[in-house]
Amino acid sequence: MAGISSTGPRSAVAAETNALALGGHTPMMAQYLRIKAEHPDVLVLYRMGDFYELFYADAEKAARLLDLTLTRRGQSAGQPIVMAGVPAQALDQYLARLVRLGESVAICEQVGDPTSKGPMERRVERIVTPGTRLDDGLLDDRADCALLAIAADKSRRNATLGLAWLVLSSGALRLAECAPSELETWLARIQPAEVLWPQDVPQPPELSGCTINVRAPWQFDSSVGVEKLCRQLGVAALDAFGAHDLPRAQAAAAALMGYAEQTQGRGLAHVTDLQIERSDDTLLLDANARRNLELFVTLRGETSPTLLSLLDQCQTAAGSRLIRQWLAAPPRAQELARQRHAAIAALLAGPWGELRNALKGLADLERIAARLALQQVRPRELAGARETLAKLPEICAVLEHFEDPLLSVQCSALLLDAAPLALLQRALADPPALNLRDGGVIAAGFDAELDELRAIGQDCSAFLLDMEARERARTGIGNLRVLYNKVHGFAIEVTHGQADKVPPDYQRRQTLKGAERYVTAELKIFEDKALSAQDRALAREKLLFAKLVDDLQPAVPAWQRAARALAQVDVLGTLAERARTWNWVCPELSPLPGIEIRAGRHPVVQAQVDRFVPNDSLLLQQSRTHVITGPNMGGKSTYMRQVALIALLACMGSFVPAASARIGPLDAIHTRIGAGDDLAGGRSTFMVEMTEAAAILRTASPQSLVLMDEVGRGTSTFDGLALALAIATHLHEKNRAFTLFATHYFELTDFPAHHPESINLHVSAAEHGDTIVFLHEVKPGPASRSYGVHVAQLAGMPTAVIRDARRRLETLEQAQSAQLAQLDLFAQTGNLHEDESAVPHTAPDPLRAQLAAIDPDALSPRDALDLLYTLHVAAREDVPL
Ligand code: ADP
Repeated sequence: MAGISSTGPRSAVAAETNALALGGHTPMMAQYLRIKAEHPDVLVLYRMGDFYELFYADAEKAARLLDLTLTRRGQSAGQPIVMAGVPAQALDQYLARLVRLGESVAICEQVGDPTSKGPMERRVERIVTPGTRLDDGLLDDRADCALLAIAADKSRRNATLGLAWLVLSSGALRLAECAPSELETWLARIQPAEVLWPQDVPQPPELSGCTINVRAPWQFDSSVGVEKLCRQLGVAALDAFGAHDLPRAQAAAAALMGYAEQTQGRGLAHVTDLQIERSDDTLLLDANARRNLELFVTLRGETSPTLLSLLDQCQTAAGSRLIRQWLAAPPRAQELARQRHAAIAALLAGPWGELRNALKGLADLERIAARLALQQVRPRELAGARETLAKLPEICAVLEHFEDPLLSVQCSALLLDAAPLALLQRALADPPALNLRDGGVIAAGFDAELDELRAIGQDCSAFLLDMEARERARTGIGNLRVLYNKVHGFAIEVTHGQADKVPPDYQRRQTLKGAERYVTAELKIFEDKALSAQDRALAREKLLFAKLVDDLQPAVPAWQRAARALAQVDVLGTLAERARTWNWVCPELSPLPGIEIRAGRHPVVQAQVDRFVPNDSLLLQQSRTHVITGPNMGGKSTYMRQVALIALLACMGSFVPAASARIGPLDAIHTRIGAGDDLAGGRSTFMVEMTEAAAILRTASPQSLVLMDEVGRGTSTFDGLALALAIATHLHEKNRAFTLFATHYFELTDFPAHHPESINLHVSAAEHGDTIVFLHEVKPGPASRSYGVHVAQLAGMPTAVIRDARRRLETLEQAQSAQLAQLDLFAQTGNLHEDESAVPHTAPDPLRAQLAAIDPDALSPRDALDLLYTLHVAAREDVPL
């Protein structure tokens, strides 16, 4: 294998290192500095015997990050060598800590002959970076770790961005292109552990939370990308993958593949497929929707209780990763979700519990296959693969009970060639030793030469007993012992009291407190043979293991397919279990727009409360905006979120918490819920609120579901009310999205009177004496009043304050209703066209004013007829009224 050399941009440190006259250094340090110059931007861990050492600035940095002791030893080029080291055996722990801190580390191993003259040859074998982690200890079992490259244009800020990302531990490679305004949504969906970004383009604010690795601009070259992708996928052109017309994504792929190969020091044999993702393939869930709906983390930043924590009862780690992917990117194609619904229904009609039991305790075949392909697999992982492969026929047998096309497809992916399993069963010890370096990895009977070498070692005890008997007889020393000790080797031990009987051919080796130890020529010969046999056995095992890894390479693609099938079966089984446990039903996905839910529940809140009150939701084109009022704590947010979560679950292919649900085509779920100050971003609550609302108004379509909670709260009453009203009107008339609009502005309950196709809903509460009971029922019509003072009372506000607030409220309400009576909030204020300047404002229409001033109830039939004639003449002849 060729050593890895960095092709990243050289830093100032590297330039300095290069400038050093290497001749002035000790040979070992000259070798180190040469290697370091090739890896200026990563920490170099340099193997020296039982330690990995870091030098100079790397040592100082690592000492700080890992709390290591910094030492100075000797001199090189007249300067003391600053160094810090970690024991080789504890490498994994230190690596995990460094990578978690966002550092990248080059592991430089000794590869030369230890007996040769001069410094031992060393080579960087791999580079561990946040996005290319592969070791078990460095990865989260239940979440994918993605490396993302973004191709951006330095001269055109609004140019399309190219995205290419790779999950190294599964081999999943994906490409996409997007507008810069969509970047945040893609980042929220991909959740990259590391982002490769071109050095000559300023980083946009969306990247602020990511670990960025700046790469030279020339690495983002689309023709190199095409070449690399074709080579990787073994094709002449990318047309079959639909990737031929994505030049920006190809440019990103060039940087991505180059970097990933460089860190592994080899090609990525397990990357054999490519998927193109387009924004409109999946239900759009922007970063706010993911956060506000608490899909993966709660608003407080915890991982439970969330929708994922409720759903993920998977038996396998790969299942957990897949269910996360399904939730992160629900397909827009209803057919795929329908297939999943059918599979869940089929599972529930059969022995699904048995299937789930069969999946228990399986090894992570997906990650093992990746590590096998990258030659980093450990003996115990192969043993795990062996047990899992052996269980596949049993899992297939259970799967055959279910009559379902999707499950049958998975079943056929589990029928594997028996040869690799048979090889593993013959070759690998059961269980194999943890580390190859300790031996005991290859099974007895697999290799005659290894068996022979091991037999010499095992013959030791027989030889020792035999020699002991012979020497006792020869010397007459009854308590003489022939023994083996790991440090001192073989010896004949004689107590001091018997020392005078020791024959002359005994050579003293060691004096102990009560005894002397000796060797003889015969024992020395045996010792050489036994110890060299041990060394040779270890070397032979290493060779055999490497060959085993090579021989298993052709099995990688089939193992990957089987692993994906197992994950799918696990997720479908889990969704069946969830449906049964929580009494969920199969939703109907229909081509007709709209959302009809009967007795819907919020799955996460339901799991937290004793008694959850189910509610209906009926969002149709003719009732697409729902203005929701009612007391704080009444259940408005819960209700709105439950509609979104039910729609989301249905689209991802799950059953849903409702008595029945019909979900029409949906392109996006947008939310504007609550707000915290984005202090880090320097934006106030109100600014955040308006930015989010503006983004929704720009993108929501008639197939979007929009949740707006308490818009306008962050500013003064009139300001906020006016904005809330204008936003609701825009959503209703222009976006024509399905909108749930919860508000504390009671004035908005007049909205449906002025906007056909919208309705009022309220969450009910019952007054009980002076206090209030929340019923959590959502009913038609506006709430009767604001219960803020009641809620304050429930919160334990002193009685005197409550009484005072009640008095003040009365005064305020009287004053406000008098004031608002003068205003016509719903009067036409102009138009809602984007380009307002292009449309002249019309003068107030007197005819309209006259019509508005009429009180029809107060007119006699005769007066009404007269008035109609007058208005008719005025309108026809344009006579001033
Ligand atoms: P609001 O948005 O009106 O202030 P929330 O939706 O936050 O109210 O609900 C407040 C609390 O009421 C929730 O945390 C939950 O415990 C409870 N709750 C809400 N809806 C229901 C329901 N349908 N059934 C039972 N409890 C509910």
